Amino acid sequence: MSLHIREQVSLKPFNTFGIDVQARWFVEVESDEQVRQALAWAHEHQVALLPIGGGSNLLLTGDLDALVMRMASHGVQVLSDDGLQVVVEAQAGEPWHPFVQQTLAMGLAGLENLSLIPGTVGAAPMQNIGAYGVEIKDVFAGLTALDRQSGELCDFNLAQCGFGYRDSLFKREPGRWLILRVRFRLARAVQLHLDYGPVRQRLAEQGISEPTPSDVSAAICSIRREKLPDPAELGNAGSFFKNPVVPAALAEQIKADHADLVAYPQADGQVKLAAGWLIERAGWKGFREGDAGVHRLQSLVLVNYGSATGQQLQDLATRIQADIFARFGVQLEMEPNLY
Ligand SMILES: Cc1cc2nc3c(=O)[nH]c(=O)nc-3n(C[C@H](O)[C@H](O)[C@H](O)COP(=O)(O)OP(=O)(O)OC[C@H]3O[C@@H](n4cnc5c(N)ncnc54)[C@H](O)[C@@H]3O)c2cc1C
Repeated sequence: MSLHIREQVSLKPFNTFGIDVQARWFVEVESDEQVRQALAWAHEHQVALLPIGGGSNLLLTGDLDALVMRMASHGVQVLSDDGLQVVVEAQAGEPWHPFVQQTLAMGLAGLENLSLIPGTVGAAPMQNIGAYGVEIKDVFAGLTALDRQSGELCDFNLAQCGFGYRDSLFKREPGRWLILRVRFRLARAVQLHLDYGPVRQRLAEQGISEPTPSDVSAAICSIRREKLPDPAELGNAGSFFKNPVVPAALAEQIKADHADLVAYPQADGQVKLAAGWLIERAGWKGFREGDAGVHRLQSLVLVNYGSATGQQLQDLATRIQADIFARFGVQLEMEPNLY
């Protein structure tokens, strides 16, 4: 099918911050063939090409003189099933949460802790999405990506993806890889991860003592709905900063002044701090300037109250970063991708 390339398209409906910038060119692609056609078109017209999924991890700071290519390929397929483990492949444009729900409905465990994360399957490996003690690397079976340098299709296994905390090879090589489909190793046997945050407590409150993966998913959805603003009501991109990992000596130094510091020792001897705690302690929670602000309940979430620009949100983020560094000596890193 030929491409329908549109000119001067507002990206407001295509990013969860709801920032109103224009794409010079915009196209939705539903197949490998259309991805290749879009690449050829961008090459021919000498414009940059920016792939997007659900736009839930983007901060758009100005109009884009580019071809914005929205991944809209669909399809979910079982590749293998040995009775215990099932490998399921989903196309990049599949919306993430409905895909999670579909696997649960198939009686498969593994993705339940990642329920209600916005976005698409294809973007999930970009930052190795994670929530409630699980990351996609824990259930990852492989992916297929198009190498924009060579034009080749490449299959990646777990080791080749270089996954880290909100990180991957694909994020470290921006612009090179177009992820076309992702495979997950899911289980018929149930091994639940309930020890992160209030998951176990929420299940207990609901009177569930022997939860199924679907129960865990429902509990996590209810916790997330309480905790995080719904982008349909208040523009945001989820956590705006990564939790910083710092040397143990620095964590000790901060703890000397703040006994209630939230800190998690890491296997390598470093310490992960809760960015939200640092931001809240610095007094930013609920801060608002114009339409750009810090959520009143979640200091890790920057919000657009209506007509904030990406630049205003970026400026706010920069001020928070400078303040946290001045107070605690900790450098916060932004999580969303800036364009
Ligand atoms: C309310 C809320 C809660 C969130 N909670 C979490 C959470 O708990 N855990 C978590 O990890 N994240 C969370 N996020 C962040 C976000 O949902 C995830 O990072 C998600 O995977 C982004 O998917 P997307 O399709 O929206 O990607 P986009 O925002 O469209 O794109 C993100 C990046 O990936 C690139 N990209 C997109 N698709 C492809 C592709 N197919 N191939 C190559 N590159 C591609 C884009 O160019 C961009 O650089 C949250 C966001 C919101 C708004």
